[in-house]
Amino acid sequence: MDAKLKETLKAFAKGSGKLCVLTGAGISAESGIPTFRGPEGYWTVGSKVYHPQEMATHHMFVRHPEAVWQWYLYRLGVCRKAAPNPGHRAIAQLEALFADRFTLITQNVDGLHLRAGNSPERTYQVHGNIFFMRCAMACTQAPFPMPQEVPLKEKDDPLTPEDLRLLRCPGCGGMARPHVLWFDETYNEAHYRFFSSLKAARETDLLITVGTSGATNLPNQVVSEALRRGAVMVDVNVEENPFGRAALSSSRGFFLKGKSGVVLPEMVELFRMGL
Ligand code: NAD
Repeated sequence: MDAKLKETLKAFAKGSGKLCVLTGAGISAESGIPTFRGPEGYWTVGSKVYHPQEMATHHMFVRHPEAVWQWYLYRLGVCRKAAPNPGHRAIAQLEALFADRFTLITQNVDGLHLRAGNSPERTYQVHGNIFFMRCAMACTQAPFPMPQEVPLKEKDDPLTPEDLRLLRCPGCGGMARPHVLWFDETYNEAHYRFFSSLKAARETDLLITVGTSGATNLPNQVVSEALRRGAVMVDVNVEENPFGRAALSSSRGFFLKGKSGVVLPEMVELFRMGL
């Protein structure tokens, strides 16, 4: 880490400015949850193989609801078996250090930030949470926790009639859907904290982006808003990516190439030195 960045982090800690952390699938890679880049997410429906970006759509749910649920129950099993890693724990420590100066915006649906100790109030899960479901017909907007009895699924396990009985809306008895934002849907405040996220970006003095390729809409707006405000931006990623380039193209930005589970704990130590 270069000397200028070390001094910037220590000076930030001493001041009263706001910190916004934006995370993507990369932070959970070290917990064993694949990003959408590798072959692990591919899925066969009938005789056709689909990419995650095709499975995670309303279009697919309307045509093949059971196949989409089967894919989600497999992913739910992966998330249930995973545990927070040092990167998640470092971000929980940042909330403990900075309290109401801190906001976390995460694209991840795996719930690992909350399990690491971040608070639901300061964690905006802008793509939802896979441990929840809601009415597919929107008889109510409320998300419900996924029933504990829903079994973990291996990749080729078919859904049983009992599984389908559990995946019903507790309100109207119709089919439930995963409480996640699909690729062909739009953000809103009620489910995904859209306006709250933009507000946090507009107010932030330091933006740390972690493990995201910058391929989705709201995260791009968060970065643009923060840079427009003149925030310092630090991007953490194992490879060069659009957010790293955005950070480096701003006069006050940094790109840290490395694993989030290694880089973030080092950053926490530097913040601590400044306090
Ligand atoms: P992405 O798969 O497009 O990109 C992941 C990024 O993480 C890449 O830039 C990669 O270089 C980086 N990365 C990988 N390992 C890393 C590590 N150890 N440390 C730091 N960086 C690392 O992910 P995305 O940008 O988050 O977008 C995909 C969408 O898919 C998200 O919006 C999310 O909703 C969903 N998704 C969620 C999960 C999850 O909940 N864990 C997993 C996969 C996909």
